[in-house]
Amino acid sequence: MELRGMPVVKKMAEIDRVAVEELTAKGVIPTLAVIRVGEREDDLSYERGLMKRFDSVGAKVRSIVLDLDVSEEKLIETINECNEDKDIHGILLFRPLPKTIDEKKVIECVSPAKDVDCMCLENIAHTFAQDNEGFEPCTPSAVMEMLSANDIDLTGKNVVVIGRSMVVGKPLAMMLLKKNATVTLCHTRTKDLKGICQKADIICAAAGSPKMVDASFVREGQVIMDVGINVVDGALCGDVDYDGVKDIVEAVTPVPGGVGSVTTSVLLRHVIRGAQKSI
Ligand code: NAD
Repeated sequence: MELRGMPVVKKMAEIDRVAVEELTAKGVIPTLAVIRVGEREDDLSYERGLMKRFDSVGAKVRSIVLDLDVSEEKLIETINECNEDKDIHGILLFRPLPKTIDEKKVIECVSPAKDVDCMCLENIAHTFAQDNEGFEPCTPSAVMEMLSANDIDLTGKNVVVIGRSMVVGKPLAMMLLKKNATVTLCHTRTKDLKGICQKADIICAAAGSPKMVDASFVREGQVIMDVGINVVDGALCGDVDYDGVKDIVEAVTPVPGGVGSVTTSVLLRHVIRGAQKSI
């Protein structure tokens, strides 16, 4: 079975449209400020996707573009303006930033209440504490939304996460743990990754290594969530060799059209929550 993102996106949009209508009736339009430094094509393409998704439910994206040679002071000033603007409920800062800027310092200037993609340490701490405060990172949340929307129960399941980044692997492991999965977090130094994957019930691949999870990693009955987004010879592909595994496993997400498409909907939902809290 192919686990596509679009049915999940549509289900989420039905709920979000109603929430935005309710907020709009109270004079609040959920708004995300996107702070972009320069004109990187992948940022531009993500921003276009965001605008379309937000527009479809009546929410807004405000694009703030800064020159590539922007100073750290100016960037922090821009973030502070967004922090103080009552009409902005979420802030997304495209990264990586130019090397002249201290990324860690700048990120911590974003108000945790508007940090809808969990960049700041305060929201990361909430994610690890699993206390339902703050915002969890959008990509691992998208994996969780897809599992839940497809009625894939995690209790007692052996779940392997490949990748230990702070953006995907580590927070995803914590979120799976909260749903009572038994989680194995793997990385480049893991021994016998194939053997570990073969024993899993669910594999979440977030390594950034094109098609590394091939037929030799999987067995029948497994669910494979592919978080990877890679460009090979101009074409998008995931960390999973989709064609190689699709006839063996029970379910697998495609790339594109899988987890990535749900990430934007999670971000929208976080901005709506920010707007609700602001009243
Ligand atoms: P990263 O480079 O920061 O981390 C990759 C992790 O994978 C590292 O911990 C590394 O140890 C591990 N890894 C790499 N190669 C491995 C291998 N061969 N075997 C075992 N472990 C290996 O990447 P990231 O930011 O976590 O992103 C991971 C992937 O997810 C990338 O392809 C990225 O483009 C994609 N991504 C997708 C979304 C989305 O919305 N779907 C969002 C963010 C990132």
